[in-house]
Amino acid sequence: MSGPSGPATGSSASCPFCDIVAGRRPARIIVDGTLVVAFRDIAPVAPTHVLLVPRAHVPDASALGPEHADLLAEMAVVARKVAEADGVASSGYRLVFNVGPDSGNSVGHLHLHLVGGRPMAWPPG
Ligand code: AMP
Repeated sequence: MSGPSGPATGSSASCPFCDIVAGRRPARIIVDGTLVVAFRDIAPVAPTHVLLVPRAHVPDASALGPEHADLLAEMAVVARKVAEADGVASSGYRLVFNVGPDSGNSVGHLHLHLVGGRPMAWPPG
């Protein structure tokens, strides 16, 4: 199983992304950062579809506060590096936090979608 090397602090029982961070569930991990782990979405909606998640369990973006400043900064930097590595930095990409039922949020561990590699419509469906 390919799991990241760092500790999974603040993990939540029966959370699939805590399991990935802890190496208990397989994932195509591409960045194993200090506060952030990035892995390829299991059901990609575009040629590039990567999820950036905090090592520590945070339910969703509505739970973010000033104490998460370092986490958000690392997410921004990792997102840029993933976009560059996947060759979508110039063509463009979308960064999305889904929050709540109307957004379609399905996993209760904060994740930033990085989607790119094809043109996308706005507004989203
Ligand atoms: P959301 O609808 O914003 O909650 O997005 C959850 C995303 O997680 C979806 O795009 C799923 O395809 C993805 N996903 C769920 N389980 C896994 C997994 N084990 N490994 C990778 N991606 C996953």
